Amino acid sequence: MTALHDLTVAALAADLRAKKVSATEVTQHFLARCQADNSGAFLSLNPEVTMAQAKQADAQLAAGTAGALAGVPMAHKDIFVTTDFPTTAGSKMLEGYRSPFDATVVCKLGVQLGGAGMVNLGKLNCDEFAMGSSNENSAYKPVTNPWNTLRVPGGSSGGSSAAVAARLIPAATGTDTGGSIRQPASFCGITGIKPTYGRASRYGMIAYASSLDQAGPMARTAEDCALMLSAMCGPDLDRDSTSLDVPAENFARDLNVSLDGLRIGIPKEFFGEGLASGVRAAVDAALKEFEKLGAKLVPISLPRTELSIPVYYIIAPAEASSNLSRFDGVKFGHRTKDYTDLVSMYKRSRAEGFGEEVKRRIMTGAYVLSHGYYDAYYLQAQKIRRMISDDFQQAFKVCDVIAGPVAPTVAWKLGEKTHDPVANYLADIFTLPASLAGLPGMSVPAGFGEEGMPVGLQLIGNYFKEAQLLNAAHRLQQATDYHLRQPGGVQ
Ligand code: GLN
Repeated sequence: MTALHDLTVAALAADLRAKKVSATEVTQHFLARCQADNSGAFLSLNPEVTMAQAKQADAQLAAGTAGALAGVPMAHKDIFVTTDFPTTAGSKMLEGYRSPFDATVVCKLGVQLGGAGMVNLGKLNCDEFAMGSSNENSAYKPVTNPWNTLRVPGGSSGGSSAAVAARLIPAATGTDTGGSIRQPASFCGITGIKPTYGRASRYGMIAYASSLDQAGPMARTAEDCALMLSAMCGPDLDRDSTSLDVPAENFARDLNVSLDGLRIGIPKEFFGEGLASGVRAAVDAALKEFEKLGAKLVPISLPRTELSIPVYYIIAPAEASSNLSRFDGVKFGHRTKDYTDLVSMYKRSRAEGFGEEVKRRIMTGAYVLSHGYYDAYYLQAQKIRRMISDDFQQAFKVCDVIAGPVAPTVAWKLGEKTHDPVANYLADIFTLPASLAGLPGMSVPAGFGEEGMPVGLQLIGNYFKEAQLLNAAHRLQQATDYHLRQPGGVQ
């Protein structure tokens, strides 16, 4: 019999509905794995709350009132606020913080009335306030990559990707501002999707850069991502001013559409200098697979790809400097014990509570927004952001989806880039363009590159074309087995 932790979300949901296994049994199994874990993936567990949720799911299954994913365990990136677990955003600033409410995404996936019925196992480690690409900016502990524990799991949703790859949980949530779902998914050999900006509510998702932040699922298969994404999306107009009035879709319904004639755009800028040869080989092989499935590869250009780095690293810090002003020791966050007056209290609280990278971004953000520099940096960045979106619309005139690498390399070694922020920023080059344009993007396991580490293929779609991306990824997964491979240490 297949071990419970080897089952997908889809298989677990079916077995639970058929009463082959109970939510309590499934949850106990996964909880034991999470409790035994030493990868640093979890920031908090709460077995009592988790088992109570499992019981509730069992009651719903028995009564026939269960949501579509009732009883399937998962865990949330510690950026989503939860009443039952502390929420830290990976920062000392929020150590011990308890939210008085649950994020919309947490409600939609959970066992609450009207939710999908998933059982929350806990909160997953991440880079502080989602700023980073390796999870090493977590104020608590780094996370190791289950494929090689000397390497990073990617970031900022590194706890999510490591936990899913190590089969501690079948699925997790992540957030993606400039690649934080796609890049860790790629580094850990799992599947993840960031929907169109505005599809999933940002209510209760601790803000980093509000015009870019999006929630999305991370799981082993595209089908599992489709099931979760269907539950996560939908309008939340009263609570999130950028939520789109677009009804939730059943993304799992159309997963077997033929790829015959699908035009896949290949941006030449994604295949230039700096792309590791092992990554390139894996991506090329996945593209060949798509051709076998009937797709046509179309050369395209996204000429401003390189500019996405300076543009993003102006706009995201600018928004962060404003969003993080609420952490002042009064409204929210750590308060210093050592102060003489109000101003020194603010200053010391923030100096003690924030880590180095967060401070760097707040300072950059305040600088680019300041009088005299606003026009030269922030305004220019906004103009180029628009041009980057326009480039995509040009490209979508000749192709249906765009494909390329998620990142220029495989997961790097822990500590390799910790003292070089610019080296970290440069590694975001292929994920930032879709983020700046607000387009849906995903990472699909496409094989293995340098040092046998996983490589993700990135698929980018036009607005609201998540179903098309998920279908393409699903078809690829029917033809390949990369998503089924397990890291050596996992049993
Ligand atoms: N690596 C990028 C950053 O540090 C993206 C992070 C994210 O998507 N949250 O900003």
